[in-house]
Amino acid sequence: MCASHVKKVQAQYSNPLNFILHPIRLKLILASVTAAVGSMLTLVPLIAITWVISTIFTEVTTLGGSQQGDDKILWMMLLSIGCLLLGMLLLTVSELIAHLADHEITGQLQSKITQHLTQVPLGWFTGRSSGEVKQIMQDDIGLLHSLTAHFYPAVGRAFGTISVAVIFLLMMDWRMAILALLPFLGFVIFLRKAMRASGNNIQQFATQLGQINSATVEFIHAIPIVKTFGKTGQASQGYQQAVHSFADVFRIFTRPLVKSMAHAHAMISPITILGVVLLSGTLLISLGWLKPINLLPFMLITPTICAPVLLLHTLLHDLQASQAAAQRILALLDTPVLPMAKGNPQLQIKDSSIDFHQVSYGYTAQHQVLSDLNFSLKSGTITAIVGPSGAGKSTIAQLLLRFFDPVAGKIMLGGVDLRDIQTTTLYQQIGFVLQDTRLIHASVRDNIALGRPNANQQEIENAAKAANIHDRIMALPQGYQSIVGKDAQLSGGERQRISIARAILLDPPILVLDEATAAADIENEIAIQDALSKFAQGRTLLVIAHRLDTIMNADQILVLDQGKIVEQGTHEALFAQQGLYHQLWSYTEKHVHTQMGEASC
Ligand code: ADP
Repeated sequence: MCASHVKKVQAQYSNPLNFILHPIRLKLILASVTAAVGSMLTLVPLIAITWVISTIFTEVTTLGGSQQGDDKILWMMLLSIGCLLLGMLLLTVSELIAHLADHEITGQLQSKITQHLTQVPLGWFTGRSSGEVKQIMQDDIGLLHSLTAHFYPAVGRAFGTISVAVIFLLMMDWRMAILALLPFLGFVIFLRKAMRASGNNIQQFATQLGQINSATVEFIHAIPIVKTFGKTGQASQGYQQAVHSFADVFRIFTRPLVKSMAHAHAMISPITILGVVLLSGTLLISLGWLKPINLLPFMLITPTICAPVLLLHTLLHDLQASQAAAQRILALLDTPVLPMAKGNPQLQIKDSSIDFHQVSYGYTAQHQVLSDLNFSLKSGTITAIVGPSGAGKSTIAQLLLRFFDPVAGKIMLGGVDLRDIQTTTLYQQIGFVLQDTRLIHASVRDNIALGRPNANQQEIENAAKAANIHDRIMALPQGYQSIVGKDAQLSGGERQRISIARAILLDPPILVLDEATAAADIENEIAIQDALSKFAQGRTLLVIAHRLDTIMNADQILVLDQGKIVEQGTHEALFAQQGLYHQLWSYTEKHVHTQMGEASC
């Protein structure tokens, strides 16, 4: 790793927000500076009013008014109007610059994330919920929007107003300025106290929050039990305990926080500020250090500092949330990608055979799930993989579909390494029906035609008929145009038959079925098995099945245990061996008979 790369990674993790916003940094600085100058200019009329009043007062008391004095006042008013208009224009320009910069960065990030998501291994998605990806794509980018589009101009505005106001007050009378600004010091002291108070209990608060969240989920899952046993039951006790503990911790957490925050906010309310100005002013006037007319600027200008100080406080709070959002975005962009195959015209897929050569795989470096697997699926044959739960059967299916790449060894399709086959070509060759059937929120027709959007209605209906789902679709209110989840509420087995129709329409020479009947009831299972056996004819088929009776006729059966093939052969040969395969059969028969016995009782 070169030194510049190390530096880049360090920068990325020490300040994720800076790293993400680096490309638009200059624009954001420009937006802040423009907003600062704009807000300084908008304060000029207020300063001018104090000047005009004191000028009138001085002239009336000393000279009794003059033409020269009137001209000066007129010019000052014109200057104020000019400054106000220019200030407002600059504030608008600042917002515009920030929004354009925001548009640029969120657009770049969205396309970078989308591009990255197309390259991460498909297996990455199976390990997380769509909510997690949505949070980054929508919520976190939304948070960055509020930061880039609003934070920088607002910080500029706040600093502009505060600095002009403070400088002006110091120039008017530094002693009075110090006294008038004391409440702001009080605000900072109380704020620090509030942060210390919340910091002491935040860990306990976060733990309790986590506990109440999981207790709520458990409680919702247990609602049928709660309803059955009513108030006297045990089911809601855990939830009630969590609620009470959370209420206690919440009280401990919020009491000192709310008290200090209330004091802090009271410190910088305009009424407090005005009160302090009047009191200090009276004191200084009585000491002869301040002329009464010079109290006016303090009464007008000091309260204008309150709003920007409160705004800065809120913005700094938002900044913390944006740091966390930036961290999540960077972590997503850091997810390792699957190397893209270039597609070598020299490498021709010669048939639909599959070869696993010394394949090993582990989801983590510590836990090897598959070790040194060697087996072949001849073109046009059926291979079944059986074995205890957790043996690694689904992992084999996922490797064959290139959801991940093996950590060692290679998988060949028709003599070509999967890593050298382009994704589109790979999925034209291999169709799959997995345990977890996903349908999209679109019409049934579009769900079937997902891999071949140009298929005509006849082809789609033929695929649905072959998958034994056509009649069910025709019974839906809008037939093939029914929207899944809206017009069509489909059972697990029906969803699987739609995904089988999807695979049939693609007509791939190789098919991977991973516990394709897992979500089906008995009626559906017969329909699915029937559809699959018709479709499997003449194709290379890899079946991962729990029901051993469905794969008795396979050309070869691989028995997997703890990531290794321990037996291999036909049903008859394996059964005669009296090994693990035989044990699995005995277990299945016992299990089925027990269930049948229970059912007949
Ligand atoms: P089978 O299909 O034989 O039941 P799997 O291939 O699903 O077994 O799982 C094999 C092992 O890999 C199990 O120990 C399982 O816990 C682990 N495993 C499966 N999927 C993941 C994943 N996404 N992340 C981490 N470990 C996993």
